[in-house]
Amino acid sequence: MATMRVAAAPQVAPMMAAQISKPGGEFEIVEREIPEPGARQVRIRVQACGVCHSDVFVKEGLWPGIQYPRVPGHEVAGIIDEMGAEVTGWKKGQRVGVGWHGGQDNTCVECRRGRFLYCRNPKVAGISYDGGYQQYMLAPVEALAAIPNTLSDAEAGPLLCAGVTTFNALRHSGASPGDLVAVQGIGGLGHLGIQFANRFGFKVAAIGRDAENASLAKKLGANVYIDSKTTNAAEELQKLGGAQAILATAPNSKAMSELIDGLGPTGKFIVVGISPDPIAVTPLQLISGERAIQGSAVGTPTDSEDTMNFAELTGVRPMIETYPLDKAGEAYARMLSGKAEFRVVLTM
Ligand SMILES: [Zn+2]
Ligand SMILES: [Zn+2]
Repeated sequence: MATMRVAAAPQVAPMMAAQISKPGGEFEIVEREIPEPGARQVRIRVQACGVCHSDVFVKEGLWPGIQYPRVPGHEVAGIIDEMGAEVTGWKKGQRVGVGWHGGQDNTCVECRRGRFLYCRNPKVAGISYDGGYQQYMLAPVEALAAIPNTLSDAEAGPLLCAGVTTFNALRHSGASPGDLVAVQGIGGLGHLGIQFANRFGFKVAAIGRDAENASLAKKLGANVYIDSKTTNAAEELQKLGGAQAILATAPNSKAMSELIDGLGPTGKFIVVGISPDPIAVTPLQLISGERAIQGSAVGTPTDSEDTMNFAELTGVRPMIETYPLDKAGEAYARMLSGKAEFRVVLTM
């Protein structure tokens, strides 16, 4: 995917941004004025921003109501460089991240219940407002997550989306230390899911579609590797006693459907991989053993903080490939190819 260069504006325009100017358009490297924060916003000097498959919503115009041009990016790591007058609790020079959950209205019924993740008018970083594919971005104060010291910017980025997605799904899965937990898919989400599941003390079964992934899965912390191409993965899980949780990360509804019978009694099948196709399950599959299927959606900024602090504590790290900001188009194409190992990150 080519990156198109657009001529600079005549006046001094001191920062670089990678924007999409229309649905289906290419990435354009443009110069923009450094923006000034509003009263309850901070300005972040972006250091790194992960390239996520969900950026396809911006690139292809698949999210309702996006205003173009738009700068994507919701795996942002950087430094607070300016603050609005009403911002408290944060300071200039502090390292912060912004993930998918880019703010809430604080007034809807879910916010009044304190359930910000389910806000009826949520803001998404890089969709509702310009995200991290630029040198400076503005973020509402409620979108900020503090980044711990020992985590690099490029490593923090993917933890703010892929990381918190798998961390939250697993910590709320109901599985206890020692329980069998399966992670389906060894990719951008799965390679983090395996690490978190291992650090949570689960017996981890990694499920991939290639024998070659076995050694990597074990290195990441899997106790067992199941090749779903050559074996019936659900049967293999039953031989191990049945899984208390299965984290389904690969965006393949057929593969997910085939795995449900791998759950043990009261086991939970947790869906985080996004595919447009239906998952097939019969009532009896759920009734026998009282098994459940549940979706799990990223997390709030405080969930992201928990994720990063836990990663610092336990050594969980994303595997990344980095590209400079002006190669945003190539970085996006690499992510889309599915060949990256495993998260693509832009560095500024
Ligand atoms: Zn994402
Ligand atoms: Zn709300």
